Amino acid sequence: MKHALLSILALCGYAAIATAATPTPDAGELKAMTARFAPVEIRVDLASLPENERAALAYLVEASRIVDALFLRQRSPAVPAQLLALADDNSPLGRARLAYFVLNKGPWSELDHDAPFIAGAAPKPGGANFYPLDATREEIDAWIRTLSDTDRLAATGFFTTIRRTPEGKLTTVPYSMEYQGQLGELARLLREAAAATKQPTLKSFLEKRAAAFFSNDYYASDIAWMELDATIEPTIGPYEVYEDEWFNYKAAFEAFITVTDAGETAQLARFGKELQGLEDHLPIDRKYRRAKLGGLAPIRVVNVVVSAGDGNHGIQTAAFNLPNDERVVAEKGSKRVMLRNFQQAKFEKVLLPIAGIALPAEDRALVQFEPFFTHILMHELMHGLGPQTITVDGRATTVRQELKELNGTLEEAKADISGLWALQQLMDKGVIDKRGERGMYVTFLASSFRTLRFGLNESHAKGMALQVNYLLDHGAVRIGEDGRFSLDLAKTKKAVTGLTHDIMTLQARGDYAGVKALLDKMVVIRPEVQRVLDQLEGVPIDIAPRFVTADALLRTVR
Ligand code: ZN
Repeated sequence: MKHALLSILALCGYAAIATAATPTPDAGELKAMTARFAPVEIRVDLASLPENERAALAYLVEASRIVDALFLRQRSPAVPAQLLALADDNSPLGRARLAYFVLNKGPWSELDHDAPFIAGAAPKPGGANFYPLDATREEIDAWIRTLSDTDRLAATGFFTTIRRTPEGKLTTVPYSMEYQGQLGELARLLREAAAATKQPTLKSFLEKRAAAFFSNDYYASDIAWMELDATIEPTIGPYEVYEDEWFNYKAAFEAFITVTDAGETAQLARFGKELQGLEDHLPIDRKYRRAKLGGLAPIRVVNVVVSAGDGNHGIQTAAFNLPNDERVVAEKGSKRVMLRNFQQAKFEKVLLPIAGIALPAEDRALVQFEPFFTHILMHELMHGLGPQTITVDGRATTVRQELKELNGTLEEAKADISGLWALQQLMDKGVIDKRGERGMYVTFLASSFRTLRFGLNESHAKGMALQVNYLLDHGAVRIGEDGRFSLDLAKTKKAVTGLTHDIMTLQARGDYAGVKALLDKMVVIRPEVQRVLDQLEGVPIDIAPRFVTADALLRTVR
């Protein structure tokens, strides 16, 4: 039954390709589009894992394959059949299409505003496959308004689809029914992994997540995920809601099967002990410093063995915060997971070539992964320092409430620049090696071009423009005859402290007008920066991972 249905769908796919009229990229163009993602082999050292834990990991890798299939189904009803049809096409054009399809997990090019790259492919459906294909956003919206409170909660929930009854009415279907077959298989593999592992918190998460696939209630397993304390750190299930472009209600399936990074975990613990001391010395008026910092949100540094589904298409995720369920966040907070080996791959394939273009030859060797990643860690930690709850005209309020839509940009710039300030403090104190001083700033400067490359349409890039322009204005960064950017170490240290002071003082005062004036002036791409960006055209945009360790593991269970 299943096979017959698939072949009919595949035929429809062929027919659509044959009758299409709009021009789509040819094999050469598709190859160039694919080359924007640098291929990279993802390997993880599993030597320290005992055999039973490696077996658990192998089951989870196998489960990730099902997550891939589930996600294809969720994108649009046509996608799984399109993939099958492409897999059968051995022509050079067919091969090029398949390669790019696999990268994008569908016939839409993410780097080109989701333009279809296969003739006959329909535009990406805004409601994905979460709503009936013949429904409109307005119809769904109007229907939801007619529902009782309980029914509305179900219809707008993370884990349901909306379908039509045989009479054509709209109805809510839980994921546990919609995806019953694949979720049953996923649960089986998670339980195999749970039986293999000797780590209690991992066992607990896997058993509870397997149960959730049947009950459709993910609460207990989300709590168990927050409590994970194991060498294997899996994130697997329905999570992010971006795929539902209509309402952001529905969660797409994804998997990040990872192992914890012992070295970076120790580094984090060391930094954690220094945070109150850093707060006590922030370069701001003493009255703005916090006598006692609140509890820190948990951070995990991991290495990816395999990622799948919504967690692996187009631009690769380098870090994520989960869960999204507000009930879990209220009880347990959320956890930040940083994908170290992905960051490293991006560093090598994207940042190093950028450094070769943006920096003078003598600074390029100083651009290294260690300072790059250490700064990302410190960036995350610095979000927890500095003014947050503030008093404006006698009113108790927060920085976020006062700075409104400007808050994100200023907060990201704060985390970046005060991250450099904090690392300098730790070097001066001997907590980390001071010989890395110049390398830290040079690596940051190179990475600023990577951030600015995508244009000034999100907080990190806007915050970066503010920082680069501030460094230029204070003589910390100079531009050579050849247009390359170099650093004056002494002036850079002063400017980093100065900008940390300026940003945090604006935050402490909740000074919306002051922030607006600063950002209006500084969040621009100046011609000298643009000249460097113009030369980055041939540098890959991102990576295309190939999971070598995961493939080897799979062979051990099959
Ligand atoms: Zn941030």
